[in-house]
Amino acid sequence: MNSTSLFSLETPSPAYICPFDQACSYLEAAAKELRLDLGILEILSRPRKAITVSIPLKLDNGDVRVLAGHRVQHSDVLGPYKGGIRYHPAVTLREVSALAMLMTWKCALLGIPFGGAKGGIAIDPKKYSVGELERLTRRFTNELIKDIGPSVDIPAPDMGTSAREMAWIMDTYSKNVGHAVPGVVTGKPLSIGGSLGREMATGRGVMIITREALSDLGKSLKGVRVAIQGFGNVGSAAAHLFQEAGAKVIAVSTGAGGLYAETGLDIPNLKAYMLENGKSLLGYPQAKPISNEELLQLPCDVLVPAALENQITEDNVNAVKAAIVVEAANSPVTIQASLSLESRGVTVLPDILANAGGVVVSYLEWVQGLSYLFWDEERVNREMEKLMVQAYRHVVEKAQQRQISFRLAAYTLGVGRVAEALGDRGLY
Ligand code: GLU
Repeated sequence: MNSTSLFSLETPSPAYICPFDQACSYLEAAAKELRLDLGILEILSRPRKAITVSIPLKLDNGDVRVLAGHRVQHSDVLGPYKGGIRYHPAVTLREVSALAMLMTWKCALLGIPFGGAKGGIAIDPKKYSVGELERLTRRFTNELIKDIGPSVDIPAPDMGTSAREMAWIMDTYSKNVGHAVPGVVTGKPLSIGGSLGREMATGRGVMIITREALSDLGKSLKGVRVAIQGFGNVGSAAAHLFQEAGAKVIAVSTGAGGLYAETGLDIPNLKAYMLENGKSLLGYPQAKPISNEELLQLPCDVLVPAALENQITEDNVNAVKAAIVVEAANSPVTIQASLSLESRGVTVLPDILANAGGVVVSYLEWVQGLSYLFWDEERVNREMEKLMVQAYRHVVEKAQQRQISFRLAAYTLGVGRVAEALGDRGLY
């Protein structure tokens, strides 16, 4: 679909790789595989609703700044809209629309009864005080008050947000409707109905999918060399769990740069160092500094881009030496780069499968909340693992059956389920 009409206010530079156009290309490939009706493709190509609000924010120094906040609701065919809220300088309506669409396919692929949505504000949260972030989040929630709700649209953490922001959203929403509504968000603190295991969930899912793919190649995680780009919630949890499973995490990075240690980094030790060092990994004595670009090119078995979109592109794909690329971030590998990796026999584990652990435990949090029964962490992890492994198996089966890539197989399964439900529900 030509995205120009939807984003008429944005004028990206010519070199810009549009995430929404990429998402639509994947959708079109899946539609072709499924021989989808063109009308159904047209419906699925557009978000059902795209909301942009102006958020006036009083800064601590008394100045007022007005920020744009987006929430895009792609599809609610399978259940309430579901997806994170991102605070990052690169947020645009285009990006949020692409990510909302990915959430639809992700939930459908994992067999959980949600649609897809995403939200975001283009800020660098590190440049704002806690008080400013709280005012911003509460006002954003207020602007979206009629569009979110436990059976309408359920936000969750994403890049730059965490349980803290979810608690503010829950409180603001609850004050507006007059009673506590914990189910309006997932990924919230345990004190207000969050789930054990939610914080590590996306990283855990990344480890599980990698473990399954290795096992299909006759290998285990033991001794496998893993390089991880990004050390936020997802990258750091994955690093921890990879090390716990016996893998060697030879490199990690943040936006400020990375670290490399041939014999493997000690992740708990590195985390302790970062806590003392103002959250920065720079200067860590037991490793060599490397750049993000160098990290992507390291000789390793498993490469895990867990940061932003478009990190592996036509420009650097030939330098990637890993045998398996695991998309822990959303869309970190461009379409062309993905095709190039696959043609070289590199296994690419697609985002909508590899990073689905977070939304799966969001679903389990929602289920626990609805039943007023809370599970121990072992049960949460077990239920999550079951859904992740099952989705992985379905993807492998489809890929083998149709002789297609894991990505196309995952999209075909996700898109196919939504299209089937759309057909059964009918149009009016
Ligand atoms: N932000 C995460 C994602 O992109 C989690 C979304 C959720 O839990 O709703 O999958």
